[in-house]
Amino acid sequence: MMVNLKINDLPVSVEAGSTILEAASKLDIRIPTLCHFKMDCFQVEHRSGSCRVCVVEVKGRPNLAPACSTPVTEGMEVQTNSLRAINARRTILDLLLSDHPKDCLICPKNLNCSLQALAQEMGLHQLLYKGEQSTYNKDLSSKAIARDLDKCIMCRRCETACNVVQTVGVLSGIGRGFNAVVGTAGLKPLAETNCVFCGQCVQACPVGALSEIDYKYDVWRALNDSSKTVVVQTAPAVRVAIGECFDMQPGSISTGKMITALRMLGFDKVFDTDFAADLTIMEETTELIERVRKNENLPILTSCCPGWVKFLEHQFPDLLYMPSSAKSPQQMFGAIAKSYYAQKIGVKPEDLIVVSVMPCLSKKYEASREEFSNNGVPDVDIVISTRELADMIREAGIQFEDLEDGVYDSPLGESTGAAVIFGASGGVLEAALRTAADWISGEDLQEIDFTAVRGLQGIKEATVKVGGIELKAAICSGLGNVRKLLEKIQRGEANYHAIEVMACPGGCLNGGGQPYHHGDSSILKKRLDALYRDDAGMPIRKSHKNPSIIKLYDEFLGEPGSHFAHKLLHTSYVNRRDQ
Ligand code: SF4
Ligand code: SF4
Ligand code: SF4
Repeated sequence: MMVNLKINDLPVSVEAGSTILEAASKLDIRIPTLCHFKMDCFQVEHRSGSCRVCVVEVKGRPNLAPACSTPVTEGMEVQTNSLRAINARRTILDLLLSDHPKDCLICPKNLNCSLQALAQEMGLHQLLYKGEQSTYNKDLSSKAIARDLDKCIMCRRCETACNVVQTVGVLSGIGRGFNAVVGTAGLKPLAETNCVFCGQCVQACPVGALSEIDYKYDVWRALNDSSKTVVVQTAPAVRVAIGECFDMQPGSISTGKMITALRMLGFDKVFDTDFAADLTIMEETTELIERVRKNENLPILTSCCPGWVKFLEHQFPDLLYMPSSAKSPQQMFGAIAKSYYAQKIGVKPEDLIVVSVMPCLSKKYEASREEFSNNGVPDVDIVISTRELADMIREAGIQFEDLEDGVYDSPLGESTGAAVIFGASGGVLEAALRTAADWISGEDLQEIDFTAVRGLQGIKEATVKVGGIELKAAICSGLGNVRKLLEKIQRGEANYHAIEVMACPGGCLNGGGQPYHHGDSSILKKRLDALYRDDAGMPIRKSHKNPSIIKLYDEFLGEPGSHFAHKLLHTSYVNRRDQ
C-alpha cells in the first residue's frame, strides 16, 4: 500500500511502513543523520533514533520527530529545515561536542568522521555548552583494533555490526545516563574477548572511537634500517579500493600506481599476495579433491580468513576438523618469503622484513599468532591496512593519481586471474573450481567462469559439475550468515562438499581496513565488478598455470600436498571456547 505525504511542500508517495528519512531520500532531500546506518546490499539497517540529529517538524505534532525512525502517515506534512528543526539540530550537536575531545587534527578518523563533517556542514563555529567530559583508558590491548571511548557518541552502530550482522556479541551498551558506554562485558580489554577483529564495527563507527592499531611507523622504521631487506605483499582487494583515498572513482583498478608508490616509499621488492593465493589454491584444491574422493571430513571449509577462523575456534570448536589446513595467502606468502626467497637472495630470515598491505584488520592479529613464526621469527612482520598505506603515500608527498604504472617483482609477484578474485566473496571457491575441474578431467577446460558463486548475497549455493563429479557448494559471507549455515549443518539439514567462508559481508572488498564506505553499497558493487574485470583481463586465469608457482614446486616444495608443503604451508586450529 502506498502512503501520500508532503515534504517541504513537495508531494511524494512511498510504501506504507517507510520512514520520513526514506521518503525524503526519494525526493533527493537530504536530512542529516549520525546514528542511522544502512547497507542495502546486505539488508542491514541500524535505526535507533538515539542521536536525534535527524529531527524534523511534522505539522500538527507538538514535538519534533526523528526522521530515521518515524513512519510516514497519509496526508503527513513535513518540514525538514524549519528554524525549530535547525535550532534543535544545532543544540544536539553542541551537546554531543560538549562531551567530545574535539582533537580532530590528530584523530584517526580526521576527514572521515561524520560528526566533524556535520559540524562543518552546519557551520558550527562556537560551542555554547561546557560540562563534564567522560574519560576512559584507551583500549590498545589487541593487535588490530583501538578503542577510544572518550570519542563515543553512543550511536550504537557498532553494536548492530557486531551483534546483529556478525553475531559475535562482543559490544553492548553498559551503564546509564552520563556513564553509559558501549563496551565489552565487564569492560574487558578487546584482546581478552571473542572479538574476531573483522573490523566491521570500525567501518560502522561514525567517529574516531573505533579505529585500527596503526603500524605505519614500524614500516617507516624498517624502511630506514639499512641492515634489513624489506619486501611488501599487497592483497587482491587493496588494488580496487586504494584509489578512493585519492579521489579516484570507486572501482578504479590502481594496481600499477600502487606498485610504483610502494617502490617510491623504499620497499626493496614489491610482491603480490595473489602469488600466494595461487599457492593456496594448489594446496586447498589438493585437499578438496582428496576429501571428496574419500568422502571424509566433508564439507571442507576454506581457511583464508582469520576472522572466520577465530569465530569457528570460539563458537563452533566441535567443527574444527572441517576447515582446510591450508594457511591463508598472507601467511603462505610469509612462509615462502622467509624460506625459499630468503635462501634465493642469501638473506637470513631475521634480516628479511615482510610487510603486508591488507584490506583487513584481522590479518594484523593473524600475523601475530604463535604458529605463524619459525624460531621466534614471524613469517609476516608488519601488517598495514589499505588506509594506512594511503596515509604513508600522502605523508611521502607522492601524487598517487599521476603515477605511471609499475609491475610486480619476480618471482613472488606473478599471479593469475584466479587469485585476484580472492578479494570477493565466492572468489576462492571459483578459483578452486577452475583448478579442480582441470585436475579431475585431465583437460585444459575453457569454461572457467563459475558465475553462480559470484555476487554480494550472504549465502549462495551452487551445484557444479567438475570433471564428472557433481560438487555441491555454498558460499557464505558475514558471520551471522555463517552461523546460520553451520547450525543447519550441525542439525543435519544441509549437505555440501565445500563451503567458502568470509567474515566480512561481501568478502575482503568490504574489509575493516578498506577506505570508509559510510554505508554506500554502490561503492562495494564497484569494487566487486573491478575484481572480476581484473580477472577477465589477465593472460592466465588458473592458479595451477602460474609459471612461478610451477617453478616453486619444481625447485623447492615437491608436489602439492607433499610432506614439506604441509610443514611450510599448513596449520592447525585451537579450541577457544573457554578463552
Ligand atoms: S571487530 Fe568484529 S567481532 Fe570485534 S567487536 Fe568489532 S564487529 Fe565485533
Ligand atoms: S563506538 Fe562508535 S559506533 Fe559504537 S556507539 Fe560509540 S560512536 Fe557509535
Ligand atoms: S573477509 Fe577478508 S577482510 Fe574480512 S576478516 Fe576475512 S580476510 Fe579479513
